[in-house]
Amino acid sequence: MKKSISIQSLIYRNYLTSSLIPIFTIEVVLVVLYFAINLYISDKSQQILLQEATQNLQEITSRETTNINNRLKEVSRYARLIQRDHEAFFSDPDACFIPHAEPEFTTHKNGAYYKLKNNGGASLYYSGDTDIGEKEKQKARCSEMLDPLLASVVETSSIITQAYLNTWDGMNRLYPFMANAPKQYGPVLHMQEYNFYYGADAIHNPLRKPVWTGAYLDPAGQGWMISNVFPVYHGDFLEGVSGLDVTIESFVQNILNLDIPWEAGTFMIDKNGMILAMQERVEQLFKLKELTTHAYNENIKETVEKPENYNIFMSENESLKTQMQLLFESKDHISQIHIDGATYLVNQEIIPETDWRMITLIKESIIFYPIHKLKNLSTQIGYLAVVIMILFYFIFFLFLLRKSRKLASKIATPIEELSMSTSKLGENLKTQKLQAVGIVEVNHLSDNFNTMINELETRTNALIDAQLLDKMRRKESEILERLAVTDHLTNLYNRHKLDKELTAENERAERFSPPYGIILLDVDHFKKVNDTYGHQIGDQVLVDIAKLLKQQTRKTDTVGRWGGEEFLIICPAADKYGLIKLAENLRKSIDDRKFPVISNKTSSFGLSLYQQGDEIKDILARADQALYKAKEKGRNRVEFQ
Ligand code: GH3
Ligand code: MG
Ligand code: MG
Repeated sequence: MKKSISIQSLIYRNYLTSSLIPIFTIEVVLVVLYFAINLYISDKSQQILLQEATQNLQEITSRETTNINNRLKEVSRYARLIQRDHEAFFSDPDACFIPHAEPEFTTHKNGAYYKLKNNGGASLYYSGDTDIGEKEKQKARCSEMLDPLLASVVETSSIITQAYLNTWDGMNRLYPFMANAPKQYGPVLHMQEYNFYYGADAIHNPLRKPVWTGAYLDPAGQGWMISNVFPVYHGDFLEGVSGLDVTIESFVQNILNLDIPWEAGTFMIDKNGMILAMQERVEQLFKLKELTTHAYNENIKETVEKPENYNIFMSENESLKTQMQLLFESKDHISQIHIDGATYLVNQEIIPETDWRMITLIKESIIFYPIHKLKNLSTQIGYLAVVIMILFYFIFFLFLLRKSRKLASKIATPIEELSMSTSKLGENLKTQKLQAVGIVEVNHLSDNFNTMINELETRTNALIDAQLLDKMRRKESEILERLAVTDHLTNLYNRHKLDKELTAENERAERFSPPYGIILLDVDHFKKVNDTYGHQIGDQVLVDIAKLLKQQTRKTDTVGRWGGEEFLIICPAADKYGLIKLAENLRKSIDDRKFPVISNKTSSFGLSLYQQGDEIKDILARADQALYKAKEKGRNRVEFQ
């Protein structure tokens, strides 16, 4: 059987499936689409921003590094110029030309030999452990001729701060003039101890080219320095190493001042990973403070390099160290690194001259900030839309619920009424006529019900009439039947019925049942009653006698009017004496009875019992003969035969 549901839930479900589900689906699709598009757009925008940032960054940094490289190259060119000049000086032992005023040399109290006054050229210092002979004195004096070039290089170049010549035997010629060199350098100066000397020797620089040192602390007191140094050979003998100093500060000022957007941080490292310069932002990132100054509390005895923690390859931050090493090896321009959980866009520019790296870091979140802001806004808008949609959906849901209830009740109420009124149909046909409810189908149904009720009423009435008629007919035939076997006057069985009963009793007796007996009764001198009192009185006497007979016989006995003033009683299962006794009782009762008008009346009785082989006429004949005998013997008697 199909599961039944109420109209309410049927309508509700229908509303739900036809309205709520499609709307819900559309809403979900719209929301998903919105977020997907947002995601796509922000992703695309991020890519574009990143591309733009990368491009900008590369443009700026490559311009800067090209510039630096050019300036370094310029320093190298100057270096070659000076190299040639110095080599020329050593190759001609007689060359001696004093460009400025005659220099004044003296021996300091610490033992060092030096130039006392600034004569417009370079300062001169000879280590205290060198024996200052004529040769040395001449070298100190004649090398004055190198000063104009040293001076013009320092003066011309904006980044070269010092130019100098260091000889194998501890002589230092330095421009610009350094007052009191022995105090600055101390009593002795072993050139071979310093990177700016050994860096250019035959072992470190077999090609005899100008080479760049790492960063070191300038013994001449100029602070952190890098030098372009170059050997000065006389044949294969290394006479000395000349150099041009560039203070890091002056050199990288441009880089330090570089203002790249997106809060970029730039730093420069040399080929060993030593930080040459870094912007403040990078200082915070590496947790280092750039060394720009140095307090010269004592003389610098050998090369002093920056502390180890300024070397990013020795950083305590293992992750940073590894990433920097990888970056350094890869030589990639653009990559990414992660510091303290943040992702940085990295740009690496190589300065070919020194194999330095200018590295710029930009926090990606800063590049993406506008996108993130937009994305957050759109996400918030999205959430708001979701909330509004949910709210709308909820309100719409309530609206539909209300609507469906209304509709359901509008449809269900008339149907319910219809079913209520029709439910009484079984009990009572007289139902109220169903009224129109305003719904066509229900109205039709009501009309049909009304028609049906009418039809049912008509048919039921017809059925009841038919049943009544049938009942009457049966009663009638019953009456007729009864009339057929009844005597009209006495209401006892008539002769016809008595004959039938006799036949039946006779048949029973024939089948070896107990014999039956009959009593034939004839009213004595009845003619006289009629004659004396009239026929009607006679009839009344017959009626009275009939009643008496009926009262005094057993139920099993059959009492009937045999004809005229004669009655017959059939007694089943009788014996002679019982039969006689009954007849005697009847005789006596009639005799004792006081009839109205006529008072006394008697009757005579002829009795007989069934005998084997009797036919009805046989037993009747014997009873008749017995009656005759009773009449003969004076009436009011019982005779048996
Ligand atoms: P007995 O003693 O010899 O029988 O005399 P009795 O007069 O009865 O005999 P009888 O047979 O000559 O008369 C019978 C009378 O009964 C004749 C008739 O008028 C009367 N009778 C028969 N049937 C009816 C009846 O239905 N109504 C009335 N009032 N009289 C009847
Ligand atoms: Mg008679
Ligand atoms: Mg008679």
